[in-house]
Amino acid sequence: MAEGPPTVLAGVRTRVFERVDALSDDLVALTVDLVRIPTVNPPGDAYTPCAELVGRYLERLGFTIAYIRAEGTPGDSDRYPRTNIIARWESGRPGPTIHFNSHIDVVEAGQGWTKDPWGAEVSDGRVWGRGTCDMKGGLAASIIAAQAIIAEGVAICGAIEISGTVDEESGGFGGVAFLAKRGYFSRPRVDHVIIPEPLNPDRVCLGHRGVWWAEIETKGRIAHGSMPFLGVSAIRHMGAVLDAFERDLLPRLDNRETAMPVVPPGARASTLNCNSLHGGQPEGFDGLPSPCVADSCRMVIDRRFLIEEPLDQVRGEVIDILERLRLERPHFAYSIRDLMTVHPVMTDAHAPVVRALDEEIAAVLGRASTHIASPGTYDQKHIARIGQLHDCVAYGPGILELAHQPDEWVGIADMVASAKIMAGACLRLAGVASPT
Ligand SMILES: [Zn+2]
Repeated sequence: MAEGPPTVLAGVRTRVFERVDALSDDLVALTVDLVRIPTVNPPGDAYTPCAELVGRYLERLGFTIAYIRAEGTPGDSDRYPRTNIIARWESGRPGPTIHFNSHIDVVEAGQGWTKDPWGAEVSDGRVWGRGTCDMKGGLAASIIAAQAIIAEGVAICGAIEISGTVDEESGGFGGVAFLAKRGYFSRPRVDHVIIPEPLNPDRVCLGHRGVWWAEIETKGRIAHGSMPFLGVSAIRHMGAVLDAFERDLLPRLDNRETAMPVVPPGARASTLNCNSLHGGQPEGFDGLPSPCVADSCRMVIDRRFLIEEPLDQVRGEVIDILERLRLERPHFAYSIRDLMTVHPVMTDAHAPVVRALDEEIAAVLGRASTHIASPGTYDQKHIARIGQLHDCVAYGPGILELAHQPDEWVGIADMVASAKIMAGACLRLAGVASPT
């Protein structure tokens, strides 16, 4: 079935957008209902009732619902089941599948709130609470986008899928990664994916930098603290590692710049953070320590690398420094252990899903879209690497900087605008059958 002529699409879009406006109270109510279920991760609380709330809503719209528990993945237990929902609506006409994927987990509320983080207060044109922005507002907006298309009886082609997946905040292994391994994010089942993460309603996020986490351990020899010359201090060895990073590695990383449009601009350079550092006696003991030379010091490094940097080079630069110290410093010994690797991903700026969103952003908001990339990773990595599906971006309402903050909120006007943009993009990607 061919895509309808532009005039058909234009008329249909107007009706669908009016329907989104008419559904704005439902959009707010759905967001409120979702936020009031505290799906805090870790540990992964209340995933099942949240998935079921989404499932009940979509079932009423005619979606077929599947609940898929990621048994055996990290954190999964009968107390904290990793319950994902995938819903599918078939138009009955052949065509592509457009999938909207949102994570249903949120981070802990933390301190510093002036609102009830689980109250979902509606005031000043905003919904307030943990997960409003990241990303239950985006999930609700994608649901309303689909609802508007279905309620208008649009002769759209293909199918629409909506998923609510778990554990994004802890790597997505029980969520999108689990489902991607089972074919839920691959062709021929799915053709285009939009992830409504909070990136501002006029920005399309093409991908993200890479991650390499590793633990470096320097090794020493224990001795009495009053005679350190009889031992070897693992902490002093680690000091030498840090010094070499400061003098040699960090300036080099700072001078590299990716061609990816990463925001904020500081994240266009390659970066290395020391996530944790510990040497010597165990922490958490209240008494006085005993005097010992540390025989072990461990540091976890968080290296965010650019699409232009091969992983071998990223690892090699750190290992070269450790090897140099081994030759230079007496008794220097170390080990290094990979903890996690995520390769950078970037969708082509001319991919169909990007073009569809660009056109709808321009039409709905009256300004050109901006293409960005994320400094950190999100579930797109699994869709690209495991699902081998590359027509995937993040696009959704909410202000990126509010994610994980106290007094998180999402703007109602932004949710309505992005619901229209998602609906419009869906119509463009699926195509609309001409009236006969
Ligand atoms: Zn998120």
